[in-house]
Amino acid sequence: MAKRTNNPACRKKKSPSGLDPALQRRVVIEHVRPQVDCGRFPIKRVVGERVVVRADVFADGHDVVAAVLLYRKSGDDSWREAPMTALGNDEWTASFTVEDLGRYEYTVEGWVDRFASWRVELSKKAAAGQVVASELLEGAALVDGVGHPRAGEIGGLLRDVDGHRFMPDYEPEKKELASRDVVSRRMEEHIGKGKGVASRFGTHLWIDITLLGEHHIKHNLREVYEICHYFLGIDPVTEWVPVRPAQHYTMGGVRTNHTGESPTLKGLFSAGEAACWDMHGFNRLGGNSVAETVVAGMIVGEYIADFCDNSANDLKISTGLIQESLRQEQAKIDRLLSGAGTEDAAALMTQMQEVMTAKVGIFRTGKAVGEAMTELEQLLVRSRNIGLRYKARGANPELVTAYRVQKMLKLALCVACGAYARTESRGAHFREDFPRRDDAQWLKRTLAIWKSETDTLPSLGYEPLDVMKMELPPGWRGYGAKDYIEHPDTPRRSAELEALKKQSNGGDRVRLQAMMMPYESLLPERFRGRNEQIDEPITENL
Ligand SMILES: Cc1cc2nc3c(=O)[nH]c(=O)nc-3n(C[C@H](O)[C@H](O)[C@H](O)COP(=O)(O)OP(=O)(O)OC[C@H]3O[C@@H](n4cnc5c(N)ncnc54)[C@H](O)[C@@H]3O)c2cc1C
Repeated sequence: MAKRTNNPACRKKKSPSGLDPALQRRVVIEHVRPQVDCGRFPIKRVVGERVVVRADVFADGHDVVAAVLLYRKSGDDSWREAPMTALGNDEWTASFTVEDLGRYEYTVEGWVDRFASWRVELSKKAAAGQVVASELLEGAALVDGVGHPRAGEIGGLLRDVDGHRFMPDYEPEKKELASRDVVSRRMEEHIGKGKGVASRFGTHLWIDITLLGEHHIKHNLREVYEICHYFLGIDPVTEWVPVRPAQHYTMGGVRTNHTGESPTLKGLFSAGEAACWDMHGFNRLGGNSVAETVVAGMIVGEYIADFCDNSANDLKISTGLIQESLRQEQAKIDRLLSGAGTEDAAALMTQMQEVMTAKVGIFRTGKAVGEAMTELEQLLVRSRNIGLRYKARGANPELVTAYRVQKMLKLALCVACGAYARTESRGAHFREDFPRRDDAQWLKRTLAIWKSETDTLPSLGYEPLDVMKMELPPGWRGYGAKDYIEHPDTPRRSAELEALKKQSNGGDRVRLQAMMMPYESLLPERFRGRNEQIDEPITENL
């Protein structure tokens, strides 16, 4: 037995799924069926039978809408969801199966899908050959905003030691919704003013999501709920959660060419966060790393398979070389286990973490980063004298830490030395003593190399980026002051792109893309050709 609970005459005020009310208000839901007398009397189904629900769902203007069917057994706390499919003419459908005897409820929710609306608008403009730079920035802001719901509506609030919501003081317009590098900097700035909370978690601020309500937190933010519950012993439904900015992505990695192979070590391939593969650049402010990882996995994987298929790539090195390399690694482990060293691996790792957090963190100055370089270098030297207390081979966490800490210190030194030399601010690298982005001097990639086992600092080199090959030359990020030094090639490339768009005269977007970025030949053969878009299926005559 199923009972309909939502139609225009008797719509619920509160959204069961916790969707953005502003986006829902603009959507009309009509003619929900099956129903008997506005849901006053139940419709009837037998156990195992499907209830096929239809409704007319539409919005004003050209915005794209989305809809979901929510259903539950009467008395259940939570709703189950079935996404609705558009049948055309504003008609939508979804279904569920009656699993038990008894009364069921169902309801339909609709909202404006901001991301789909943006995509449709972007596709139209791109197809017409119009400049889409501002649309791309808008899209980046949309993606960046995922997980940061609109402040004051259904988002969390950042609070300080006094319980004061401080983000509006710094960013009156965007508040907690400012991009994550800006929010992180403001948090550190606020902690620096003595407004952090000292607790068993260290110095931190609070995020208050209690206003979202139990249903939203447990249903839509289940992972947040579980992390708070299991790792912190906190219930975010009723308590504030301690937060502080942390590193969550390594910008850079093993330099590779377009096939994912290292240009200096044949047969070494890298993809994903570990690689420096050039697809998006490495600013990481648009939340694009998972997308890049998946695409790189597909393309680089194909090249690895090709590499292995080619007999010219058969490994022809002396087995003596391999033996020697193994012997060296074994000797390192033996030295650690022999107990001759006096340094504690875990203590070195903790000191490295403290130096990196305090001196190579969100805000950087030449003075602090220079000090960090000296301290890290000393830690690296000390790490060559580690001794273990627990000497078992195999699953020995102390041995693992000891083996890894030297490598971690080398990586930390690459970051610190690169940051020290880079006298500008770019993305997450913010130098208080050089706050401007300087494309004229610094639109180049830092390459850090350890030339010998005994070096205590990496050697730095640089690889310039070619603005004339970019589809979107570096420009203003869409917010904040337009205070950066432009690359001399940027105006020339922008003019070139404009001319290409005019030449294409609103023609096919793929052909225009090929004119702007003629690199299709770099893809494995089977990945060439048109890519399909949801609103633009591939047809024979395209
Ligand atoms: C808190 C947080 C939030 C994030 N949010 C977003 C987001 O919103 N959007 C987004 O696009 N990205 C986000 N990212 C980044 C994104 O999750 C990562 O960049 C991406 O998952 C990296 O994928 P990967 O396969 O390259 O590397 P990983 O997922 O790190 O995979 C590497 C694997 O290698 C294994 N491994 C390591 N060493 C060895 C070894 N010696 N032998 C064998 N295996 C080994 C590891 O165990 C791991 O399974 C976030 C990351 C974090 C930490």
